[in-house]
Amino acid sequence: MALVSAGVLVTGLLIQVGSILVVFQMRSSSPGASSANTLNIGITFVTGMLVLARLLSVEGTLRPRPGGRPQVQVIPTSRSMGIVAHNTSVNACSRQPPRLLGVFAHPDDETLCAGGTLAKYASAGAEVIVISLTKGEAGQIRDASAATRGTLRAVREKELHAAGNELGLTETRCLDYPDGGLSAIDSQILLRLASELLSEIDPDVVITFGPDGFSGHTDHIAVGAAVTAACYEMRSPTSIRLFHCDRPRSRMLLRDRLAEWVVELSTRFKGTKDFVRALSVFSREATALGYAADFVNVEWFPSGSYLIEQGEAATMMHFLLSGHVEIRREGEDGRVRVVDRSGPGEFIGEAGIATGQPRNAHVVAVEDVTSLTFLASEPVPIGGRGEQAALLRTRSLPSGDRIDARVSTCIDVSDFVGHKIRATAAHRTQYPIDSRMFPDSILREMFGFEYFIQVLPERELHTSLLDE
Ligand SMILES: [Zn+2]
Repeated sequence: MALVSAGVLVTGLLIQVGSILVVFQMRSSSPGASSANTLNIGITFVTGMLVLARLLSVEGTLRPRPGGRPQVQVIPTSRSMGIVAHNTSVNACSRQPPRLLGVFAHPDDETLCAGGTLAKYASAGAEVIVISLTKGEAGQIRDASAATRGTLRAVREKELHAAGNELGLTETRCLDYPDGGLSAIDSQILLRLASELLSEIDPDVVITFGPDGFSGHTDHIAVGAAVTAACYEMRSPTSIRLFHCDRPRSRMLLRDRLAEWVVELSTRFKGTKDFVRALSVFSREATALGYAADFVNVEWFPSGSYLIEQGEAATMMHFLLSGHVEIRREGEDGRVRVVDRSGPGEFIGEAGIATGQPRNAHVVAVEDVTSLTFLASEPVPIGGRGEQAALLRTRSLPSGDRIDARVSTCIDVSDFVGHKIRATAAHRTQYPIDSRMFPDSILREMFGFEYFIQVLPERELHTSLLDE
């Protein structure tokens, strides 16, 4: 805010200087130089306005235009790499409002791949249209109350429209090509379909999958290939901008963030049954898609076994899904006392993870226990117990993503993470989560940036190894 005020002040001063220059030039010029005067006045004015625009844009402020939509100027930032700030303003496009088209394979792809970006541009006034080639009838049903095999097709179509509402999209369309069968369709048929969609919608920007299919799904790869080929076919004379979605592997450990969150709570955390299900789905999907670097597993501990032993290094965090455990502390004299008891919906071992200290108690299953376990993906050596264990600290990782050098575009969607999570929750059959279940700080860190590879217009290759 203070910087914006400073910007306005500096711009005001520049305009003042500009006015003085204009007056000076008018007085000093001869009557025959009127056209040169007009040019000088024009240049001075334009320079002042450009400086004004630049100063305000650096702040990324939302400023209403007279009689128009709010103008959002985005300077993307990256957590780990110096990414060039591309102009992602909706006003960078000649047509107003600009039109974005996302073409995907299944309802939910739009949200997972580019939900924050689609919401951001829709909010800034762009027309945003999303098309799913299938109704997602081959998908899982993670909430039995949400659909059956017979209803899944219709339910997922509705979920796409609901997610579109959460993201603020202009239009969502669900075609009826076979889920799981897109790669078996003749590629010319998909190419023709993609070309027809591009002709009909005439987008300025197209977002789809790259050759890796974002998650490797063969449907994704088939859609991405068809849309990309269609964009190449019709790139002239239109200047279509084509982007492939990309997902760098995150270095963040959900284990560490959850532990930090739980130890800071004033009361002991106890998740509801819905939270138990949601965390189980959320953590395993997030790690599978690379939003976190943990190994997440479900493990079973028969009654009488140790989940944690006193003195060992804290490497694993547990979240109890079923059954009860006792927390037992073993004294110097060898006596063991029960100090606490925990059950489903509670975290176990979060203090050791958060502080890096060896375990200060045993955790023993008093009945058969199922636990969601979080472990760092790189193995941490278990160096025994006691003195030696104190030397072993848990691995703490910086935030940030391992970004592929091909990635050209990083969109800061931190203000639209709420939209993305609500849209994810709208896909109830796939993600039975409540958007308010998880702490905002973790969600923003995980989903605050979306990445793309610019395919069209083709980027020029450098022709020298040195700056010229
Ligand atoms: Zn998909």
